[in-house]
Amino acid sequence: MRLILLGPPGAGKGTQAQRLVRKHRIVQLSTGDMLRAAVAAGTPVGLRAKSIMERGELVPDDVVIAIIADRIDEPDTRRGFVLDGFPRTVAQAEALDRLLAARGLTLDAVIELKVDENILLERIRKRVAEMTARGETLRADDTPDVLKGRLAAYRAQTAPLVDYYARRGLLKSVDGMAPIDAVTAAIDRVLRDSRGTAPERKAGRKAGASGRKGVAAGKKGAAKARKSGARKTGASSAAKSAKAGRRGTSVRRRRGRSAARKRLTRTG
Ligand code: AMP
Repeated sequence: MRLILLGPPGAGKGTQAQRLVRKHRIVQLSTGDMLRAAVAAGTPVGLRAKSIMERGELVPDDVVIAIIADRIDEPDTRRGFVLDGFPRTVAQAEALDRLLAARGLTLDAVIELKVDENILLERIRKRVAEMTARGETLRADDTPDVLKGRLAAYRAQTAPLVDYYARRGLLKSVDGMAPIDAVTAAIDRVLRDSRGTAPERKAGRKAGASGRKGVAAGKKGAAKARKSGARKTGASSAAKSAKAGRRGTSVRRRRGRSAARKRLTRTG
């Protein structure tokens, strides 16, 4: 199963992604986590991304696309994945389409967590105040001001993806303001209802065996394309650095994730 979770910062994507991971035994691919690991490890990607992330702006498309291209080729993604925080621009969505097509893969659904931005901002302000009062460490981009910027970036650059995926018949919207368990139940429902009905899956079935045969060739082609693309953009070395960063900081990342999980679980 391959899914995208779409929604502004603080909508609860991380919490729902972790539940999907447990239920479907797939992996969570969070570009935010990967970038934070690269920043913590001081890799070239991290150095490039640090100040951009602190301002709440988006890291350049070529950087995150290279990271994801590399990550989806790792063996643990074989059962599927849930993308959390990627794609965030139309250019990223188009790149993802190309990456998946080259590997003979399709998306099952794009789940939009619909939220009221004003209530969200209020929740986030409250959470930041509570964490500060408890003396807990905040993420550098977890201040109300930066969050306002991140919400603006979502509106301008990521919200157009709702139409992008609706046009492809992949979009499923759920009420992200409901209690966490209710959101999980709603996601389960839309996945059950959409199973086997996604247009890309139907097309894939029609292609049948010839489609599957194309996978191996597609993978080779994709590797070639990545190599030549990397020469142009330096993206592959960026991805490698991020990967090295991920490995080098696995312990820190686990700790960070568990802290992040606690935060997200608290706020939904
Ligand atoms: P997140 O944890 O998903 O909220 O991401 C934290 C920050 O990482 C964002 O505010 C961006 O600066 C950066 N980031 C994460 N994913 C992406 C992406 N797909 N495209 C560009 N920037 C990203």
